[in-house]
Amino acid sequence: MVTTHNLGFPRIGAKRELKFGLERYWKGESSRDELKALGAQLRARHWADQEGLDFVPAGDFSFYDQVLDMSFTLGNLPQRVQGFHGDKLDNYFRVARGRSAHGADDHAACCGGVAAGEMTKWFDTNYHYIVPEFTVDTQFNLDTSRLSGQLREARELGVKAKPVIVGPLTYLWLGKARDGGDKLADKLALLPRIMPVYRALLDYFRVMDVEWVQIDEPILVTELHPAWRAAFATAYEGFEVRGVKLLLATYFGALQENLDLACSLPVDGLHIDAINAREEIALAARKLPAQRVLSVGAVNGRNIWKTDLNAALDWLEPLAKQLGDRLWIAPSCSLLHVPVDLSSEAKLDAQMRSWLAFALQKLDEVKVLATALNEGRDKVATELAANAADIQARRQSSRVNNAAVKAAIARIDATLGNRRNAYALRAAKQAAHLKLPAYPTTTIGSFPQTAEIRHARSEFKRGALGKTGYRDAMRAEIERSVREQEQLGLDVLVHGEAERNDMVEYFGEQLDGYAFSEFGWVQSYGSRCVKPPILFGDISRPKAMTVEWIAYAQSLTNKPMKGMLTGPVTMLNWSFVRDDQPRSVSCYQLALAIREEVLDLETAGVRVIQIDEAALREGLPLRRAQWAEYLRWAIESFRIAANGVEDETQIHTHMCYSEFNDTIASIAGMDADVITIETSRSDMELLDAFENFSYPNEIGPGVYDIHSPNIPSEAHIVQLMQKAAERIPAQRLWVNPDCGLKTRQWAEVIPALTNMVAAARTLRERAN
Ligand code: GLN
Ligand code: ZN
Repeated sequence: MVTTHNLGFPRIGAKRELKFGLERYWKGESSRDELKALGAQLRARHWADQEGLDFVPAGDFSFYDQVLDMSFTLGNLPQRVQGFHGDKLDNYFRVARGRSAHGADDHAACCGGVAAGEMTKWFDTNYHYIVPEFTVDTQFNLDTSRLSGQLREARELGVKAKPVIVGPLTYLWLGKARDGGDKLADKLALLPRIMPVYRALLDYFRVMDVEWVQIDEPILVTELHPAWRAAFATAYEGFEVRGVKLLLATYFGALQENLDLACSLPVDGLHIDAINAREEIALAARKLPAQRVLSVGAVNGRNIWKTDLNAALDWLEPLAKQLGDRLWIAPSCSLLHVPVDLSSEAKLDAQMRSWLAFALQKLDEVKVLATALNEGRDKVATELAANAADIQARRQSSRVNNAAVKAAIARIDATLGNRRNAYALRAAKQAAHLKLPAYPTTTIGSFPQTAEIRHARSEFKRGALGKTGYRDAMRAEIERSVREQEQLGLDVLVHGEAERNDMVEYFGEQLDGYAFSEFGWVQSYGSRCVKPPILFGDISRPKAMTVEWIAYAQSLTNKPMKGMLTGPVTMLNWSFVRDDQPRSVSCYQLALAIREEVLDLETAGVRVIQIDEAALREGLPLRRAQWAEYLRWAIESFRIAANGVEDETQIHTHMCYSEFNDTIASIAGMDADVITIETSRSDMELLDAFENFSYPNEIGPGVYDIHSPNIPSEAHIVQLMQKAAERIPAQRLWVNPDCGLKTRQWAEVIPALTNMVAAARTLRERAN
């Protein structure tokens, strides 16, 4: 018999109940007990949702983040909150977000705000975890309170729970050494200290009569240093004979050179992501010692498409014959990365719905697969026939396939991404045309999303405001932005993006091939969720998307107005994308659509066009060996989108980071005339990449940290720019903020930009 299980369930709630509960608590509008009760209620509901599986996860629920949970379980609290009083949950929120609840914290006076823990992306997903902090003095102490509570609840509800923990190597690997004086040279030095706590945790599970524990070690799908590989062997030998069974879980990629290692560790089962590593399943089935379980992630936990169940059974059936009881099946990874329930999507048409599966539907797929394997396909003939029909319909649908787009993709050749002339020649023509001063000033695109904008948008959505009324409201905002910028004395203006709800959604809504869910929320971090658009078909642009707004903005001023677009790679990386063609093909399609927009803007007289690639870095594969291939088509896509313009048209791009040490040559290969990047918070330190690589075109290193309400002083900006001028020739420098200003208030933006413009003037004077 095949066993079914799940690696993790989305905890935010189908209607984002946890988000709203957390935010109420943080604002002081509800009590700690109410929040804890909500947690218990959600866990109970989510276990009920997973009914029918042989094992369901416990401990995957989290009030903020599962890695931070693990830090608390291991007793690894940052020094700065260690002496704090009060409820543990409040300390937990202090580490997560710098403070606990407003007013609800009895210890606000002695244990108030602290620095929040650093947050970073969980492998190649858009989920962000709180980075564990280590010092040479870090000690670990087991705290089972969270897990014991959840296990007790599961028991009371009669749920067969499999606790989920982050394994010791992945935990150490995710963390960061944070020393003042003595530096922790190697995180592996902490392994002997952390292992006794893990062993005690497993002992505790044994005492609690837990049968299986899921121990997540996703770093096994990355290129590991030999010392880390060796540490796996040592660590897991220490887990032997604990009286609980261990399922070692890997996901998000193939194990490759770590496959033998994973198969040799003394655990009781191994989970492999069969979506990303199908070819390793048969290998693992052969390599795993007898008696060990092979858990196969046969349903995609990262995407929203229905599984082709018949095709899955074709390869699962022989495997089930070979492995018998040793075969488990599950989604490929935790379902944290997909929305909860497709059946809430009443606004998606029936056909679109018939192609999709959210978390609940994915678990149904696992169950159907198991029934077919255990009792024969006949037992689920109806389900399998319906599934086959849906898969077939999607494959052949004219909504998915657009012959004209496919033909355009086939026509792409190497010249499409090339500018007519090299940068030096273009730069001269652009200078003659734009007549900008040295150290030109600009902003990244958006201006504050005011209450008026939000009001107009919601009235428009509700139907209370007509099309013209809405357009007039947006035009009024654009005019306001233009007047403010003229007043400030900025050199290249923007329209302010008032009409955009979101930089991907705005374009997705106007392109054919995109669909939008109503409740398709996925946790990004803490209480924050995103609702990625669904890229389901060949992409085309029925009509111009931004020209009317930008042309209007340009009509208000004699200064150059910068057209503002989201780039193909960012559109791709922030969407749920098709699984029926390579990502690169979808990206090229987006590139062609954006290219049309670029050319339309140029025809309309817009001579500066910015194409944002905020998420380019996020798409880098987990394994470095695959970076070059990704960068090849990602950069090519940008070039196709951007480079069809005349020499006189200046192309800008923007990226919200400045870690370019390892990708700078590719970034330069985009051949944008100007790139603006984030640097102000790191004091330009991150311009290090430019020390060994002389970036050929113009750069605007951000000098205003838009994530902070603080107003940068003129002197500070001058100083940052002078630092930049040590690395980059001054005649190629721009002065601009780190990113868009939509999350700020005008009251902050005006003084900050006043100082920025003053700083640019000072720099010009000093240069003369
Ligand atoms: N143009 C966008 C803005 O200014 C860029 C946002 C981003 O880089 N994330 O808001
Ligand atoms: Zn940005």
